[in-house]
Amino acid sequence: MSENISGKIVKVAGPVVVAEEMGGSRMYDVVRVGEENLIGEIVELHGDCASIQVYEDTVGIGPGEKVVNTGAPLSVELGPGLISSIYDGIQRPLDQLYDLQGSYIKRGSAIPGLNRETKWEFKPTIENGTKVFGGDIVGEVQESTLLLHKIMVPAGVTGTVEGLNAGSFTVEEVIGNVVGDDGNRTELKLMQKWAVRTPRMSKKRLAPNEILVTGQRVVDAFFPIAKGGTACVPGPFGTGKTVVQHQLAKWVNADVVVYVGCGERGNEMTDVLMEFPELIDPHSGEPLMKRVVLLANTSDMPVAAREASVYTGITIAEYFRDMGYSVALMADSTSRWAEAMREISTRLEEMPAEEGYPAYLGARIASFYERAGRVVCTGSPNREGALSIIGAVSPPGGDLSDSVVQATLHVVKVFWSLQGRLAQQRHFPAIDWLTSYSFYKQYLKDVFEDVDKGEEMAKMSQLSMILLEQEAELAEIVRLVGAESISAKDRMVLETCKSIREDFLHQNAFHKVDTHTSIDKQYEILKSILHLHEQGLAAIKRGVEASEIFALKVREEIARSSFIPEKELAKVAGIRDTIDVQMKALSS
Ligand code: ADP
Ligand code: MG
Repeated sequence: MSENISGKIVKVAGPVVVAEEMGGSRMYDVVRVGEENLIGEIVELHGDCASIQVYEDTVGIGPGEKVVNTGAPLSVELGPGLISSIYDGIQRPLDQLYDLQGSYIKRGSAIPGLNRETKWEFKPTIENGTKVFGGDIVGEVQESTLLLHKIMVPAGVTGTVEGLNAGSFTVEEVIGNVVGDDGNRTELKLMQKWAVRTPRMSKKRLAPNEILVTGQRVVDAFFPIAKGGTACVPGPFGTGKTVVQHQLAKWVNADVVVYVGCGERGNEMTDVLMEFPELIDPHSGEPLMKRVVLLANTSDMPVAAREASVYTGITIAEYFRDMGYSVALMADSTSRWAEAMREISTRLEEMPAEEGYPAYLGARIASFYERAGRVVCTGSPNREGALSIIGAVSPPGGDLSDSVVQATLHVVKVFWSLQGRLAQQRHFPAIDWLTSYSFYKQYLKDVFEDVDKGEEMAKMSQLSMILLEQEAELAEIVRLVGAESISAKDRMVLETCKSIREDFLHQNAFHKVDTHTSIDKQYEILKSILHLHEQGLAAIKRGVEASEIFALKVREEIARSSFIPEKELAKVAGIRDTIDVQMKALSS
């Protein structure tokens, strides 16, 4: 064991500290650095010399001070109490850090991730005498009104369950034992630990096959993400990356949301911290936080902590996946994570690759997104879980050839391309319909219980995309030779596309109703827009003046349809009758 190995600092370079006399240490061991016991992790070993990335500010730390190896890798505590928590990058509860030490975080604080005093009501779901394996569910704790926490046998533990009883326990108390064939006893507790850099296991990986519904029209209807899928949201500053991430965190139909703020501007994270506790979950009417875990690293927190927050977050997310839940993780912004990697790498004096990033940038990004997926969970009862990852990327100047963007696009299956041009026109979400893509689109139809409706939605989505592509071509022609040169039919296409963009794709995140649209309502709005298009083309064929169609009153109703509350869905569907009536009046 590398526990209690103790060395001395020889050099401090920003977030990196080099210590000697560390022989016997292992890569990724957690160490306590200096007189203040700062928390760090070994990231390089040469003989008995260790390079350590420190998760706290190293100002004032100097050569000669001690470094003590804890003998354990960077781990998270997994168990009841995770939900509703707000952590820093190494799972220290932010509220307690602030409460204890005032407005700034004292260095070297080691507050445990899970509260040690809270008692949880535990109910076994298996009988004593049952033979169990790692991953088996032995019981449950109703952790919040929205989350039933499954208590699982830790990985690697096998044997017969003894002394498991219902009762009220803290996370450290023994809830039962597993007795191995060799007579060895392992105590079962509500809490287990997991090293964050090691992905949690699953029995089998499955291809995603179900849409994660977000209530965001451009996402669900055009570029959907799947349960277990991966998406990337790159865009220049101010184009709405953070708003997209917030919207998804609020509205996705996942059982658990893990939101990682890895070093965006301080005020953005403050927004999350202030706003999320106030939000109500639309699916249940309960506070949203009852299914959310927040990890917050503001831009003024040390870079190494940002790096850790991504791993802490994904491990917590995997743990809930293993219970058989659908989990969604948002990371805003992964560029801050990559910059942290770059800074550490520079301090380690590694050979830089493109844009100064380390050569392993792509591999790290890939292995992060590879932790997403739909899986058959380890253990019994048999269950499936899914983990979706949505990463924002903020390349300098919005340049998509940026290393982080490119490395991310190599691995993700959905690309939401945010355009500065659209944001300037106040078209939000500024997701470009021409360049964005989703490899999960074939599953859109299955969101609907009614098979025909599903097929129709898929067709409408496809038709809309085709029309929007035509619009781009027509706009070019109009620009070159003027609007008079195109036919009435083409003008109808332009009008319909305007409606698709302004009445369907445009969505105001800050409007009470518009902020979220059920998939049924998305269907109705799109159907009305395309119904007008069809009827319009037919009328033009009959000789009706195109301008008369464009002036129809019903178009205002379509424009307002996204603001009609969900419970008045019939009104949205009713717009098509109005279209028919007004069209008839034209031709007679
Ligand atoms: P980024 O994270 O890309 O820098 P933000 O997410 O902070 O950008 O968005 C910048 C601003 O754009 C927001 O403060 C808001 O005013 C506007 N915005 C973005 N998305 C939307 C939206 N869906 N609805 C309304 N306004 C939006
Ligand atoms: Mg942002």
